Amino acid sequence: DTLIDQIAAGEVVERPASAVKELIENALDAGATRIDVELEEGGMRLIRIRDDGSGIPADELALALSRHATSKIASLDDLEQVTTMGFRGEALPSMASVSHFAIVSRPASQAHAMRIESDGGKLQAAQPAQHPPGTTIEVRDLFYNVPARRRFLKAERTEFGHIEELLRAFALARMDIELRVTHNGKQVRSYRASGSDDERLRRLGEALGADFPAQSLALAHDGAGLRLSGWVGLPTTARSQADQQYFFVNRRLVRDRVVTHAVRQAYADVLYHGRHPAYVLFLDIDPVRVDVNVHPAKTEVRFRDSRLVHDFLFRSLHQALAGARA
Ligand code: ADP
Ligand code: MG
Repeated sequence: DTLIDQIAAGEVVERPASAVKELIENALDAGATRIDVELEEGGMRLIRIRDDGSGIPADELALALSRHATSKIASLDDLEQVTTMGFRGEALPSMASVSHFAIVSRPASQAHAMRIESDGGKLQAAQPAQHPPGTTIEVRDLFYNVPARRRFLKAERTEFGHIEELLRAFALARMDIELRVTHNGKQVRSYRASGSDDERLRRLGEALGADFPAQSLALAHDGAGLRLSGWVGLPTTARSQADQQYFFVNRRLVRDRVVTHAVRQAYADVLYHGRHPAYVLFLDIDPVRVDVNVHPAKTEVRFRDSRLVHDFLFRSLHQALAGARA
């Protein structure tokens, strides 16, 4: 139902960056090791994302574009166990209903790829196509048929800025994945897959500036079934950037008051006053202990035991920072 899809699109896709987010999450869910992002005019003209993931079988292509047909949630209980990034089965139908949309996909077991197109939600018949194993999804002219939303989009530079910020977060969250980005035909980012500590440090510098690794401290703490790892800006440096605060819960970027408070308290306690510390932190937690189902955009979470999480974060950070000062 195109109208319902268009309404849902307002929830899931607000601007080009949100479309990029959904598409990258799908590629990650498909087990991609390499993702290429091609953009034109800040993503408003074109978003094309290619991955080397599992692909979509020919007989499931049309289904992927129908609402909830692919929901990975079979029951309410499943909501507690979500480990994939996407689970609602509404991102693709939503995007397809408000753009010129195409999927080309090929599972490795299939001899050739299939391509399916949709214009404003109207599906065209699938056609054979050329593609290596994996998937390419194209979103052209986002909101071309929803003038009120199209008008709401900002200047190319602003929209591109949102995408850059999002891709930076992905580059940090998933250092194991190769990520390349072109904008208006020019390569603007190229992250190599990074596994070793050295490679990860280099990638950290590529994403956040070369001085970030130099002025920060690597940490890794385990306790109470939680694991905190990553880097924090040293309290002794002048580094103070609210725009370099990344906190990932199970590799999802999260903005959370419990987290912010714990971090700020740990810094304040180690004589670091009134600044916004830079950090890139990863919290790994059993999915049943965290609720990611707060909003479709999924940057909010709710910890089942927020007190325990808060104290674990505070203690881990405090220990690392105090150790660095000593
Ligand atoms: P969700 O991610 O919530 O399941 P989406 O609308 O984002 O729903 O995607 C619909 C379905 O299409 C997915 O569940 C998946 O089966 C398939 N799909 C989408 N993108 C890809 C991709 N890049 N590679 C493989 N399968 C994909
Ligand atoms: Mg999805």
